[in-house]
Amino acid sequence: MAYHIEKLIDEREVIEGIKKVAEKINRDYQGKSIRLVCILKGGVFFLTELSKYLEGNITIDFMSVSSYGAGTVSSGIVKIIKDLDESIEGENVIVIEDIVDTGNTLSYLLELLRDRKPASVKLCTLLDKPSRRTKDIQADYVAFTIPDKFVVGFGLDYDQCYRNLPYVGVVEFDD
Ligand code: 5GP
Repeated sequence: MAYHIEKLIDEREVIEGIKKVAEKINRDYQGKSIRLVCILKGGVFFLTELSKYLEGNITIDFMSVSSYGAGTVSSGIVKIIKDLDESIEGENVIVIEDIVDTGNTLSYLLELLRDRKPASVKLCTLLDKPSRRTKDIQADYVAFTIPDKFVVGFGLDYDQCYRNLPYVGVVEFDD
């Protein structure tokens, strides 16, 4: 099916939004050590931009879980494809996500991480789509709240493409 991408949040706005989130985190953590747990692959672009502006000792680790397949609808099934390399016991963990949609992925993941006895776990997302939430999940840090549209760019893909776009755009299907 033919489609095009409509710009939703331009490059400059994305960076400004991320800087504001970093300022909030810096205020809340006051230079404490933070373990950023990035959810692959979508969270990578947000992680690298956000972490530039964070203060204190910042360490990073990665986790990969399956959520969507090649389509645009959540399967509701969460599978760990790659686990963390390091223990998070006693760490101040901030989970870095590209988007919170239904909340399925995060509700499963946050429970799993809390079981590993970190000092704290917070959730930080580039985008929040609260209108689609089916699980009781609230991000602690949100750069942008967006409407119920399928978006790509700044880490988000459509069939693995467009992650590298420096802006966030909506996939519009042509009739
Ligand atoms: P949830 O479990 O909250 O429904 O979905 C979380 C995951 O679904 C995200 O990490 C992301 O990979 C994918 N997802 C949800 N909404 C969108 C969207 O609008 N665009 C893209 N590209 N992925 C999305």
